[in-house]
Amino acid sequence: MTDSLHPATHAAHGGEAPRAPFYDVAPPLHLSTTFTRDAEGGYPGGRVYSRDQSPAYDGPERLLAELEGGEQALLFSSGMAAASAVLHALTPGQRVLAPRALYWALRNWLREFCADWGLTLDWYANDDLDELARLIQAAPTHLLWIETPANPSWEVTDIAAAAALARAAGARTVVDSTVATPVLTQPLALGADIVLHSATKTLNGHSDVVAGALVCARQDDPFWQRVRRARALGGAVLGPFEAWLLQRGMRTLFVRARAANANAQQVAEWLAVHPAVASVSYPGLASHPGHAVAARQMRGGFGAMLSFRLRDGEARAKAVAGQLKVFRQATSLGAVESLVEHRASVEGADSPVPRDLLRLSIGIEAVEDLLADLRQALGQ
Ligand SMILES: *Cc1c(COP(=O)(O)O)cnc(C)c1O
Repeated sequence: MTDSLHPATHAAHGGEAPRAPFYDVAPPLHLSTTFTRDAEGGYPGGRVYSRDQSPAYDGPERLLAELEGGEQALLFSSGMAAASAVLHALTPGQRVLAPRALYWALRNWLREFCADWGLTLDWYANDDLDELARLIQAAPTHLLWIETPANPSWEVTDIAAAAALARAAGARTVVDSTVATPVLTQPLALGADIVLHSATKTLNGHSDVVAGALVCARQDDPFWQRVRRARALGGAVLGPFEAWLLQRGMRTLFVRARAANANAQQVAEWLAVHPAVASVSYPGLASHPGHAVAARQMRGGFGAMLSFRLRDGEARAKAVAGQLKVFRQATSLGAVESLVEHRASVEGADSPVPRDLLRLSIGIEAVEDLLADLRQALGQ
């Protein structure tokens, strides 16, 4: 019976059935770091120590695995810690392919980490499968990193085609699906081996938890076993209260994601015809180069993230960000409140992001208020 339920129903229930002894409707919070042995020295509760075995992870990990259609999920102390566990599962001399448009903190860290740890790192254009195929053929590849839609240009990668190229070459594929969310895309069903989420973003959705997650297609994959070890022994684990908050946040994931996606589509269409706007990047617009692929691999929406460029340049972009009142001017994304950010000034001097670009994370406010706010800030 429960297997036939829609993922939105599992999410609304937090992925758990009420349990003994109290049959709580909201899950209990487990804080213990250690667990008692019985007289024979066994562990009747099946746990030894909470670093890697906190009962607080059971509910949210089971729910995430369910939503992504994977065999196992692992929570981490942040999205970056989850990414770091994947990279630590590689060994010196192995090769990583990463997209040129990529969450900037990860791009900077990847460069340093791969250099320090003797990994080869090559870059591909997010939406160029021919280039990717050439790179994969040029030298043995061990890890293909995909982010789609990718920060902050929202370029789209065809997961099924890219993962098939990687698989044929014996490489693992990891998809950072933070922006797509399991509401829209299930990368494992498209051939990826591991899905990554910055659970700080849409999964939790309330700007009050920093967390990360990985979900695997196959638990017995030796590469996944190495990722597991990287968490258990590397120790970048999530606190139980954060895990509890994340599970609570995910109970409203589907309604939040759908409302934000619908708002984002309207905001993108409105901006696309505004005279002060030079261009809008949103996969839900027919003008977006990745629209057709996005329409195939994202169901029921194109995400809550978009960027736009101002005709009058950087100073105007910054002025507009400062004028917005309903949009908060802050970094991060995927929460209930809408945010605006001048990306280039956050990313620093070597950022490839155009200086006239503003990034919007669309929340679940009344769309009329978002449009009115943009109208007053753009001043036309
Ligand atoms: C925020 C973000 C990350 C990093 O996650 P943290 O939880 O901040 O460590 C990784 N990928 C994407 C796409 C992000 O937006």
